[in-house]
Amino acid sequence: MFETVIGLEIHAELNTKSKIFCSCSTRFGNRPNENTCPVCMGLPGTLPVLNKEAVRLAARAGTALHCSVNRVSRFDRKNYFYPDLPKAYQITQYDLPLCEFGYLDIETGQDRPNGTRRTHRIGISRIHLEEDAGKLIHPEGETVTLLDYNRAGVPLIEIVTEPDMRSPEEAVAFLKALKSILEYTEVSDCRMEQGSLRCDVNLSVREMGKTDFGTKVEIKNLNSFREIQRALAAEGERQKKQYCSGGPDSILPETRRWDNGRGRTVTMRSKEGNQDYRYFPDPDLPPVFLDRSLLCPMRNGIPELPEQKKERFLREYGLNPYEAGLLTGEKALAGYYEEVVGFGVDSREAAHWILYELLRIRKEAGNREIPVKSRYLADLIQKIGEGRISRNTGKDVLMEMVVTRKAPGEIIREKGLSQISDPAELQKIIRGVLSRNTDAAQDYKKGSAKAIGFLMGQIMKASRGKANPNLARVLLEELLS
Ligand SMILES: [Zn+2]
Repeated sequence: MFETVIGLEIHAELNTKSKIFCSCSTRFGNRPNENTCPVCMGLPGTLPVLNKEAVRLAARAGTALHCSVNRVSRFDRKNYFYPDLPKAYQITQYDLPLCEFGYLDIETGQDRPNGTRRTHRIGISRIHLEEDAGKLIHPEGETVTLLDYNRAGVPLIEIVTEPDMRSPEEAVAFLKALKSILEYTEVSDCRMEQGSLRCDVNLSVREMGKTDFGTKVEIKNLNSFREIQRALAAEGERQKKQYCSGGPDSILPETRRWDNGRGRTVTMRSKEGNQDYRYFPDPDLPPVFLDRSLLCPMRNGIPELPEQKKERFLREYGLNPYEAGLLTGEKALAGYYEEVVGFGVDSREAAHWILYELLRIRKEAGNREIPVKSRYLADLIQKIGEGRISRNTGKDVLMEMVVTRKAPGEIIREKGLSQISDPAELQKIIRGVLSRNTDAAQDYKKGSAKAIGFLMGQIMKASRGKANPNLARVLLEELLS
């Protein structure tokens, strides 16, 4: 029996307008090399100037993740040669990082509505500030590599965890919780598809019961939760097999990459040690001193975080942990939910329509935005509650609202979707159905339970789905008795 040991290194781009050591824009999607200057291009004679906002955001992340924020930290040079790094060194923090000794409590086992909640505390060893590198572009079918330095010098935090995770599921749960905190605190926009949140993982295996760690293998540049989950699962299996056939020493310390197509990890290079980078303090940047008067307001300025919000949703809205977890996992969604409830809609109905209808539509559209105004959704739910339209019609109206951006009342009027709740009108429809289905009416009188289902179906059909089903059933039973 084996145990898997997982640690993570997460890089998150900070939400600053300008780069960390110059005033170039950090905007994503500009023309290649538009956001560059002599400083971030590493030209001789230039000097870096630290962006205060980057320090503030990094310290804010540290505070939200229960770290101690160091009053003195320092920048170092990490030396290596690669074309995406114009200076041939990266400015980062080595032995005096900005934040240390934090943790994040995660919950697993609630990816299903009836899952049991289990809490684990994952240690965060450090959070340090550094600059991002540029991007290499390899155009398909050509023998050239293009360089885009727009990203060079964009501020990053690197968050390093303790090796506290024991399964790919825990690693993904940690990442989701972390992402949500960075979004809540507005430290990073965490757009994994744009590379503003990236993750390196390290994994080792050991025999159950042993306390020494096995040989650590790193997997670089994983860009989605699904990829991380699959890569960790595949690498765990590979190491267990290797351990069984060649013993623990046959697992080599190395850096691997994930081959998505073949569904396995492949060797990239042997692991470089820290001595290979020849770290030394950057002589161009003085140490960073943080004043106590800066740190206090920061602690008070942390907003309600996902975990606290979730507990409040459980208490205030009568939701189950699964629903509360989904709604609070995304700050904008939690806010939207509270807006809908604020219009006086039943809190459980609101959760149902958002989680099971609206999110499905949003997912199909592949969008981040919530496609319907909160006021319109509240209005729709109220109309269903009042029996003006049926639940099923409600789903069609919602779809129409997404497409046309119109208010539900307008769609119901235009399409003539109002539910028929007028007893006289319903009786007319029911009499018509009964006169065409005398056999079924006889069967009902003889006690056939099936007959009523059949007749209700006919009534719904005759009214083109608009009959108020509860009222129609009462009237049908009256007419048959
Ligand atoms: Zn620049």
